[in-house]
Amino acid sequence: MDRERLRDLTREELEELTWQLVEVARSLVEKVKQNSTNSSRPPSSDDPYRRRDERQKDRNAKHSSKVDADGSANSGSPCSETTNTEATSKTPSRPAGKRPGMPGFWRCQPMVVSCEVDHDAMVCAACDATLGAAQRCRQDSAHYVYDLERTAMALQINAAKHRYFVGRCTCGHETISRPGTGRRSEIEGRRRNLQLTERCLVGPMLASFIAVLSIRFRLSRQKIQEFLADWLGLELGTASIDRCIREFGLACEPVVEDLIEEIRAAEVVHLDETPWYQRGTLLWLWVATTATVVVFRIGSRAREELTALIGEAFLGWLVSDGYVAYRDHPRRQRCLAHLIRKAVALAEGYDHAGAAFGRDLARDLRRLIEKVAAGDGDASVKRLVTRLKWNCQCHQYEVADKVRALAREILNDWDAVIAFVHDPTLPPTNNDAERALRHAVIARRISFGTRTDEGSRCYAAALSVIETCRKRALDVATYARDLFATARQGLPHPPIPVAQPP
Ligand SMILES: [Zn+2]
Repeated sequence: MDRERLRDLTREELEELTWQLVEVARSLVEKVKQNSTNSSRPPSSDDPYRRRDERQKDRNAKHSSKVDADGSANSGSPCSETTNTEATSKTPSRPAGKRPGMPGFWRCQPMVVSCEVDHDAMVCAACDATLGAAQRCRQDSAHYVYDLERTAMALQINAAKHRYFVGRCTCGHETISRPGTGRRSEIEGRRRNLQLTERCLVGPMLASFIAVLSIRFRLSRQKIQEFLADWLGLELGTASIDRCIREFGLACEPVVEDLIEEIRAAEVVHLDETPWYQRGTLLWLWVATTATVVVFRIGSRAREELTALIGEAFLGWLVSDGYVAYRDHPRRQRCLAHLIRKAVALAEGYDHAGAAFGRDLARDLRRLIEKVAAGDGDASVKRLVTRLKWNCQCHQYEVADKVRALAREILNDWDAVIAFVHDPTLPPTNNDAERALRHAVIARRISFGTRTDEGSRCYAAALSVIETCRKRALDVATYARDLFATARQGLPHPPIPVAQPP
């Protein structure tokens, strides 16, 4: 169809054609407007920004109806701005967990203690003299610890009784041995703060097992409870399970600080981000990966979050998509997979000139990646680069929006698009970061994100440590256990070894 033929049509034919176009447009608009509320699409397919707005609207509606019911204000005149801030900062009327005064639940499983572990005071607190089991005078405290024992092809839960004794020195001073304590995460108004301590029902190996089940294997607290009961014969409450997961995150935080230092010193860093929800609020989950490190961070989409990851003075190469926050970094490789996808979309479109441009672009970009990877001669690569640029220059004033936009996008970011041509060690795509994010994206779809700042921090830290261990082909369980054990004693954390000794 072109203008010439349109001019020759009769009135009736024109009317028919117009009507057909209206029908097509209507069906397309309806399709575009489909979302989880009016079709069978899953909520996860909804646009995150739209979801945020809808939620805000819901909250406002609830808020204004509440005010109305109180009779203290008129729903017709709520100031939208104050309603907004109140709605987001309002604490829920019923906090999670047991109501005060309600009867509690206890384990009804009898505990079979398999061994006793004794802890003596080792040094006199008054005169620094060496103490030991010989100076033991009485027992001060005791507690039980469940732990997981992992032997060749076997998993077993054991219960141990830990006894703490008082040692009396020759100087007359009595020193009490106590379970060690580590970091603490405090939140105002919380009944019980998160404290790393050895006085805990769940031992380091079992606690890391639970944390890994949650974070790496994406099991909910209830599913972990079911798994432990059904397969290991252990009864644990969901609160204890939740505590282990948080404790693990807290123990991982200092390790992540080291990992961030490694990222800042790296030669090539991949970066990407994906939507994340914290109690329904839209946030972003960032990931930075290098050859040996993966670090996650949950925060806003602002530049500051990026700076928190790679620092102000990052000197290496950034591999990223075209998001603005990355743009001012001088040494950057643009992810070509994104551009190829855009080019393919054009090639499959109905605009003639655009389709040809898209086809050429996708072909040339793919060929460029192949040629650079194969280390082909300079001349053919140079020809290909020149053709790419020329092709984009030809289309930067195109009438069709999408064609013009893609051509300009490539030209505006030209140095970043072809950086890998000059430095063949640079990866031309951001697949590394995108692969690292996949896991978290699936977790988000299962769990709907985190609920508190502490939860987000712990989740990101724990995931960073687990993924880094996996990247270095290390035994996650062993490292996690050692990390837990030292963190609960308040000792410095063990560094993550770079490679497994043979
Ligand atoms: Zn003494």
